[in-house]
Formats: sequence, C-alpha cells, structure tokens
Amino acid sequence: MRRVLVTGANKGIGLAIARGVLAEHDDTFLLLGSRDAERGEAARRSLIASDAAFEERVSVLSLDVASEARVRSAAAEVAGRFDGEPQPLYGLVNNAGIGLGDSDIASVVEVNTRGVQRVCEAFLPLLDPTCGRIVNVTSASGPNFVAKCSPERQRFFLDRELDWEALSAFIDECLGLPDAAAFRARGLGDGNPYGFSKACTNTYTLVLARAHPNLAINACTPGYIATDMTWPHPAASGRSPEEMGMKTPAEGARCPLHLLFGEVEGNGRYYGSDARRSPLDRYRAPGTPPYTGP
Ligand code: NAP
Repeated sequence: MRRVLVTGANKGIGLAIARGVLAEHDDTFLLLGSRDAERGEAARRSLIASDAAFEERVSVLSLDVASEARVRSAAAEVAGRFDGEPQPLYGLVNNAGIGLGDSDIASVVEVNTRGVQRVCEAFLPLLDPTCGRIVNVTSASGPNFVAKCSPERQRFFLDRELDWEALSAFIDECLGLPDAAAFRARGLGDGNPYGFSKACTNTYTLVLARAHPNLAINACTPGYIATDMTWPHPAASGRSPEEMGMKTPAEGARCPLHLLFGEVEGNGRYYGSDARRSPLDRYRAPGTPPYTGP
C-alpha cells in the first residue's frame, strides 16, 4: 500500500487530489488531512458515497498546519498507526493554504509557508527514503511576485544554496515591514502577501530538495480553480467561473497527481498546471513550451 497524506483535503483542490489518489491508484491508502475533524469526516463520507470501495482506504487525520503542537501530534499518530513501520508514508501533498481574505500577511505566511515547512519537518522521518515524494501546492502568484522584484532579490529566491534558517530570517525581516511601499523600497515588488508566501514556499522547495536528493520534492500551481478560495472573484465581477477562465478542482488536481505518481525527472522544480516545468521568476502560460533551465 502506498500511503499518501494530503493536507487541507476536506474541500477544494485538496479533496480533488484525495479523490484522484483513491480513484486512479488502487494500491493507495489516503490520510485525509483536515484541521477540523468533522469537516474531515464529512469529506471522507463524500468520497465513500462516490465509491464504497474507498471505505477501507481512507481515514481522517486531524491536522492544523498552523499549529506546531497539532502537527507534531499528527505525525506521532501516523508513526504509531501502521504496526510501527518506521517509514509508512509514500507521499505528502502540502495543499492546505489560505488566500488573503480577512487575514494579514503573518497569518498567510504562517499557513502557506511556515505550515509547509512545519509539516515537512514533522513528516519527513516517516517518508520512504528510497522513493518518497513531496508535492507543494504553491501558485503562479509566486513567480509573478518574483518577476516584480529587483535582480538581487530574484537571485535570492532562485538560490539553491540557501538553507531554511536563512530563508526564515528573511521572512521574519519581511514580516516586520509596515506596508507595500516598504516592500517596494527593498526591491520586493508589490509586496503582495499571498504571492510573497508562495514565492517563499517555492524557494523552500529548492532548499528541501537539495537536502534530500533521494526523494522527489517538487512544487506546482494547480491553475486558476473555482473553489471557496476564489469564489469572490466571479462574485465581484458578475461573471461566471467559466467566463473568468476558472477550471474545476479535478483539473487543479492534475499536476499535483502527476508529481505524486508520474514520471518526474529532477528534484526541487516548479511546474505549471499543465504538468510541465515552469520558471520560478516569471509566469509561463499552460500549453506554451516548458522551461528547460536549471
Ligand atoms: P480552499 O477550497 O479554500 O481549500 C483550502 C484548504 O486548506 C481547506 O481544506 C482548508 O481547511 C485548508 N486549510 C486552511 N488553513 C489550514 C490550516 N491552518 N491547517 C490545515 N488546513 C488548512 O482553497 P483551494 O483553492 O482548494 O486551495 C488549495 C491550495 O491551492 C492552496 O494552497 C492554494 O493556495 C492553492 N492555489 C489555489 C488556486 C485556486 O485558483 N483555487 C490557485 C493557485 C494555488 P478549512 O476547510 O478548515 O478551512
């Protein structure tokens, strides 16, 4: 059984990834991560309602990625759950995320960047060291953020020699900036908090991949997907999600599932929603030639 943990799997793209794991790979067991146990159970029931055979292959894992204590206890629970198998996990999908909404930049970073790092740290020891995979669901907002930065800042975001401590110190420094003008004055583009959080997570993916060359650790954007996170966009414009060019959660799950199970070359790379490589410092539209640089 290949066991896969998906964070934030109770709805949206995470739930679509969970469904894809179960439906497309019958040798898998899914740990459905949800910060709210009841929402997680409801999602589990919806999966089983679509195919009763999933019942034996899915269980809910209570996991709030913003809480150090809850991440640690979730990892301890997994460690004790599968007959003490030392490395019971094949895959980890860091999908949980928040948009800006009513949150401030610190909250967005706490979930979208530090949450990913926290979950990786806690679950890496449980990952199969010979073939384990990590997929970080980031966003095209990351490369779009980096594209607006100064050349020096761009080099920082692309630096494979960085370590988490240096990246974390940089994040702390940025969280101390008072406003977008202060970001701009430091060569950090428009200071968009969501884009900043996803750019940092893309860079973290490079850092982590370098430290674990035997694993496949990559990041991707799911594309522009109609979910609770993006519903305000069509609502504000008066257009339908289709008219806005939004796709379904199932389409958003395509690249994460490819990075989880498909033939993937290299490590520490970022992919577009068409499951082809993209650069970290500028947007590549799906369907256009893939990035072939370092
Ligand atoms: P969504 O429908 O709002 O789902 C977000 C999921 O993350 C929910 O399950 C939510 O749980 C969970 N979550 C939020 N904070 C959490 C925390 N502290 N701990 C654990 N889980 C938490 O959004 P989505 O569109 O599916 O987004 C999924 C991922 O795709 C995110 O990382 C997002 O940034 C990324 N993304 C989305 C789009 C898009 O167009 N939709 C584009 C690019 C990237 P609750 O139900 O408990 O809130």
